[in-house]
Amino acid sequence: MAFACLDCGSEPGAVPTCPDCGGFVAYERPSTGALESAVDGDRWAALPPVEPAARVDLGEGGTPQLPLAATDGDIRAKLESMNPTCSFKDRGSALVVAAIHSPSTSFEGVVVASTGNTATSVAAYAARADVPCAILVPEGTSTAKLSQAAAHGADVFTVDGTFSDCFELARSVADERVVNATAVYSANPYVEVADRTVAHEIVAALGTAPDWVSVPVGAGPLLGGVYRGFRDLRAAGLVDEAPSMLCVQARGCHPIVSAYEAETDVEPWTEPITTDVGAIADPLVGYAADGQRTLEAVRESDGDAVALSDETIHAWHGRLAEREGIYAEPASAASVAAIAESDRINDDATSVALITGHGLKEPDAGDPPSTSPADQSRIRDLLVG
Ligand SMILES: *Cc1c(COP(=O)(O)O)cnc(C)c1O
Ligand SMILES: [Zn+2]
Repeated sequence: MAFACLDCGSEPGAVPTCPDCGGFVAYERPSTGALESAVDGDRWAALPPVEPAARVDLGEGGTPQLPLAATDGDIRAKLESMNPTCSFKDRGSALVVAAIHSPSTSFEGVVVASTGNTATSVAAYAARADVPCAILVPEGTSTAKLSQAAAHGADVFTVDGTFSDCFELARSVADERVVNATAVYSANPYVEVADRTVAHEIVAALGTAPDWVSVPVGAGPLLGGVYRGFRDLRAAGLVDEAPSMLCVQARGCHPIVSAYEAETDVEPWTEPITTDVGAIADPLVGYAADGQRTLEAVRESDGDAVALSDETIHAWHGRLAEREGIYAEPASAASVAAIAESDRINDDATSVALITGHGLKEPDAGDPPSTSPADQSRIRDLLVG
């Protein structure tokens, strides 16, 4: 098993793209035995080998999967918000930071461009591994996310621009001594393979693959990794089918959905970004190939791609909190919203929605709650009439 170019098959090691042909490099399909162990709960079994001593474990993965109670259809919410730093990004961070520790690499420090969640996640793992960490975020990033990253001792730099500008700068900082932990395919090949573990856990919980998996998408290594995880399991004979992948973006920045609808290749988003759902607002400027790779996974899986208004996303954010007891980050509520809104998904289908991040990440979203002065008889009336 090795990292290999998806286009020409050469094995250049754990680099994002092939030095020979420019194709993406990805980890090959693990052995059937490794995949069986992964479905049985050994999260490291199907990942690139890391000596146990180099692992940086904060308890990531193994997240709960709950049936939604008050929403039509058979929808399971996989609570990636229950990861150590409250988003799925911890799966990738654990592997990237472990790679710095591995004796076979020359990495000493980590740089990461982020809309917030990757920043806090990499900062936590870097703190635990005692690795220097620099974070690049667009100005205006949620202060909750930045406080979390700064608490872990990371150096935070703001960039006057979009996520794409942050990524460009991270690329220019990275070399053989500094790993770029940005959660896009063209930064490193670790994030996608780490995200495949979501598929292993879904199969462990359901005993089979669902019909649909709904994923909020920025550049899409999460969607691509989950799909690749199911494809690996199918090739090994551990599931019969891979699910259809539902790609969800916000209308105010939806380069991948736009290409899906127009049946073209993905182009960078050059219009102004008009969504406040920052975690999935990725204009892909300078790395449209990342979006293209995600789009190909959607098409190959016979999936669907939908762009939702901020209004719809926030309505579902409220609904999940009020009716399901799930406090999701708005970007994450988009995954459930898209299942409800897509006309491709029947009520008899089994769908898994990834709740990618926690609502506490963006506590400033929405109006302040209304409160009343405490009064014993009013409290009693309210509770039991
Ligand atoms: C990063 C992120 C996403 C998008 O994941 P990609 O793999 O970058 O497409 C979705 N939701 C949340 C909360 C995120 O932090
Ligand atoms: Zn190649």
